[in-house]
Amino acid sequence: MSGLPLDALSPELRRKWAAARVWAAHRMPYLANALLTMDPVVVPDTELTDDGAALRRFPADTGWHIHLSPAELERQSVPQIGFWALHQLAHLLREHAAQVPAAVTHGPDADEPPVRTPEQQVWNLAADAELHGDLSTAGLEAPADVAAPAALGLPGGELARRYWTLLQDRTELPDPAMAAGDCGNGCDGRPRPWNCDWPPLSRTSAQLTALEAARRVREHQRTRDDVPGGWRRWADEILEPRVNWRRQLAAQIRRTIADTTGRVDFTYRRPSRRAGSVPGVVLPSLRQPAPVIAMLIDTSGSMNDDMLGQCLAEVDAVLRAVGIGRRQVTVISVDARVYRAQNPRTIADLTLGGGGGTDIRAGIEAATVLRPPPDLIVALTDGHTLWPDAPPPRTRVVVGLLDPAGRVPDWATTVVISEPGSEEVR
Ligand SMILES: [Zn+2]
Repeated sequence: MSGLPLDALSPELRRKWAAARVWAAHRMPYLANALLTMDPVVVPDTELTDDGAALRRFPADTGWHIHLSPAELERQSVPQIGFWALHQLAHLLREHAAQVPAAVTHGPDADEPPVRTPEQQVWNLAADAELHGDLSTAGLEAPADVAAPAALGLPGGELARRYWTLLQDRTELPDPAMAAGDCGNGCDGRPRPWNCDWPPLSRTSAQLTALEAARRVREHQRTRDDVPGGWRRWADEILEPRVNWRRQLAAQIRRTIADTTGRVDFTYRRPSRRAGSVPGVVLPSLRQPAPVIAMLIDTSGSMNDDMLGQCLAEVDAVLRAVGIGRRQVTVISVDARVYRAQNPRTIADLTLGGGGGTDIRAGIEAATVLRPPPDLIVALTDGHTLWPDAPPPRTRVVVGLLDPAGRVPDWATTVVISEPGSEEVR
């Protein structure tokens, strides 16, 4: 389905949608930016067989589009529409579509008539039960058919996967009306007939939106004690992940080391003179190459001293991971141009050049023509730069992102490097 822009709505309904978003942002100001990130798509009611009722919950998709039916905008009140906007945002921020159990993804194919399987319905109930704790607060009233743990006879405060398991023991769905409510592709990742082909919000942007929302939850909680427990726990989870960035970075490097040492070459070398007892026979020798890593440091004017200090700490961590003194790591400073490539043994050997504009593309280009070619490129940057459209061939790229608001390409693995002092590094 193509989907229409907001202009397709009557001025009255357009105002109603805008009022619903404002209403929602007032209830949960810490989610205001994330609410605005959801892109509204108007789905003409004539394109749906049931006069828009399938869109009663204003379902979102994993590309962060929220689907509006004119008939439903007409039927529901501003607080009801506002509730659904927050509810669907909660599905996206909690990434329910990415956690969906295998039994749900093996549903009907996209080209078959759209039917929601019982598995999809149960997952929807489980996901709604998880986010119940996000939306239980003064001024928000959930419609009666939205699954709440108590209504399903389940304990409160659990995650969707746990609720899914608990619901597996049930012989029949708790309440057909409750099970019929469809939160769409943003809840289970399955296609829906109303989903549009508009460009999605990239996964990285979605993650950064979530990170920013989590920070705002914390900030808000410091001064006002009215953040629902569900959001507080979610923010803690996001801001203090068990796997922190340095471990992630180390894991990427280890993976590359494993790939590289697993790649065993038989190379024919000249036999030494002492092996000359078998004249005319050249024995293959086993060679295990060590990984070659190129690290790019963004030294443009937008990188402050703290960030550059952080970069040096990362280079130091990588040198230690690879083994000090092996000179397997090439470090390149790059602003709008590339500075001399260096092979430091320790960070004391390193000099950084830069201070101008940013174009990390120049650095990636320089790294790919190094001899030997790097197995891994680690780019440390605030992300306020252009990136190549496509990844360099045969090289893994990990971006250590120093500013969560920075931009990174989807083809790279991104590790957000926390601000020193603001988050605990474990
Ligand atoms: Zn839902």
